[in-house]
Amino acid sequence: MADYSHRIITMPTTQQLKRPLLLGPWRRTFQWLTTLIIILLPWIQPDGISLVRIDIPSLSLHLFGQVLRIQELYLLLLFILAAGAGFLFITLVFGRLWCGWACPQTTLTDLAEWLAGRLKLNILANRLQGALVQKIIAHFFYLLLALLVAANLLWYFIEPQRFLSSLVTGTLHVGVFITFLVMTAIIYLDLALIRRLMCREFCPYGRIQSSFVDPATLTLHLPEQEKPRCIRCNSCVRTCPMGIDIRDGYQIECINCGRCLDACRRVMSKRDEPGLIYYTFGVDNRGVSGLLNLRVLLLGLLLIGLSGALTYATLARATASLKVSLAPTAVSKVIDNQQTSLFTVWINNRSTVIQEYHLRVTSLSGESLEIRGQTEQIPVAAGGNYQLRLMVLSPVSHQPNMVEFQLLDHRQQTVATATARISASANNQ
Ligand code: SF4
Ligand code: SF4
Repeated sequence: MADYSHRIITMPTTQQLKRPLLLGPWRRTFQWLTTLIIILLPWIQPDGISLVRIDIPSLSLHLFGQVLRIQELYLLLLFILAAGAGFLFITLVFGRLWCGWACPQTTLTDLAEWLAGRLKLNILANRLQGALVQKIIAHFFYLLLALLVAANLLWYFIEPQRFLSSLVTGTLHVGVFITFLVMTAIIYLDLALIRRLMCREFCPYGRIQSSFVDPATLTLHLPEQEKPRCIRCNSCVRTCPMGIDIRDGYQIECINCGRCLDACRRVMSKRDEPGLIYYTFGVDNRGVSGLLNLRVLLLGLLLIGLSGALTYATLARATASLKVSLAPTAVSKVIDNQQTSLFTVWINNRSTVIQEYHLRVTSLSGESLEIRGQTEQIPVAAGGNYQLRLMVLSPVSHQPNMVEFQLLDHRQQTVATATARISASANNQ
């Protein structure tokens, strides 16, 4: 009796052998789910702002209800570091599973090849072969697809509704329109000519992955002890989209898609035998416990630390900022026996909804102040800035006088404070 204990998927029953358990439907479902998420994310807009969007005018990143601004560089840096650590961790554990199961490039290529198949076109040397009419129809669909994908990418920078209405009414910014056309052309060329060449030759992820592969990384291979059962039908090679032979062992071109596994299972099920190709953690099948090595653990800890720090720093930061400056063009003056100082106030609303703020100004030395200017119901748009001037009247003093500005939200909660000095030298002017 053969020993099948090296597989991470349990040995199939006789009934399963006749109808082998295939991964293809799971992979396609996962691919379409990922695609759907990518298409829908910009359309999901709680409080009117997309869940994920890069806002070029304000140089900020909208991320699931939070706004990370370029001024908050430490947050953006944390986000980039956490994303990088997550990317490396997933690569270390799952290898190129992302490429075969979720990457939009793979999904698009699968779609382009499926369409060619439906139109009875062959793909030889990456070129479509077949009747001219069918080829024209295929290229027409590739162009439509390219337009949709290019628009979808731009929705991560401009709200989809605004993008589409500007496109329809011809009011789209010329720079955006040119970007849209260039992106459409690149994606069309990718669909029509490049397809798998992108994964094989150009995509840097495959190269990075090869240097990050761990002895316990999830890989798909044909174990040595199974080779005698191979009937050399070549189904696994014929079905491989990357044109490799899995029987030769691990190759960096392999995108872990599992098509060869399905092909082999189909063939072997006709002989009432399980397939020969498996996903295992490491080519020598170390099992999940193989992942308990220093490299994976350290990277896992780093990922948890960075994600925690990012979450804390994002949630704990102030929802507004306040900056105050004594207006340089209007030095403090004594008028009618009162110290008169003109301040410029900048309010930044860091939340994702419009806010109505109030300002309170108090003297830190307890003197009574009179404020002239807008201090109540100051509306500031989501993520917006507001600038105003305030005249502060205080008793004449020869000592430097510090004043505190408090920014209150609609619940009268202090959300930001700033202090400023009324200079003693100015008091005598
Ligand atoms: S060898 Fe198998 S898993 Fe790898 S790319 Fe080819 S078909 Fe997909
Ligand atoms: S599909 Fe399976 S049996 Fe056929 S050649 Fe590939 S590994 Fe061997």
